[in-house]
Amino acid sequence: MSRYSDADLAAISEARIALNPAAGQDPPPDGGHVAYVCPGGEDHWGCMFCDGGLFACIVCGGLDGGLTTQCPGTRMMAGYRQLVYAGELDCRLDPTGERAVWVDGPSIHTPALWRLACERVGVRA
Ligand SMILES: [Zn+2]
Ligand SMILES: [Zn+2]
Repeated sequence: MSRYSDADLAAISEARIALNPAAGQDPPPDGGHVAYVCPGGEDHWGCMFCDGGLFACIVCGGLDGGLTTQCPGTRMMAGYRQLVYAGELDCRLDPTGERAVWVDGPSIHTPALWRLACERVGVRA
């Protein structure tokens, strides 16, 4: 059973969209990240990519919860991945939808988005 009430969940959902409008898109934008494909293949037991399902982008170097909403299109600078994971930095499409720009705020992929949305609403994450 969820420990959130329906009203909490609705408010958290609204707060997530306020923090990152892409969180309201269904399906979520794919962001243009390019998946690393491990040459190990299906039987690569114990591999964090093949077996663990870890997603890594070969363009920006982002990993799962450290992925930006939109791929910046170039390698992220040192330290960016941690900031993205912490929900402090994101790369998103600008209003024209043509250019990826760096902004302060959580990505749709970071677990910090949920925590920050809960903080905004005033419920425990
Ligand atoms: Zn990427
Ligand atoms: Zn593998």
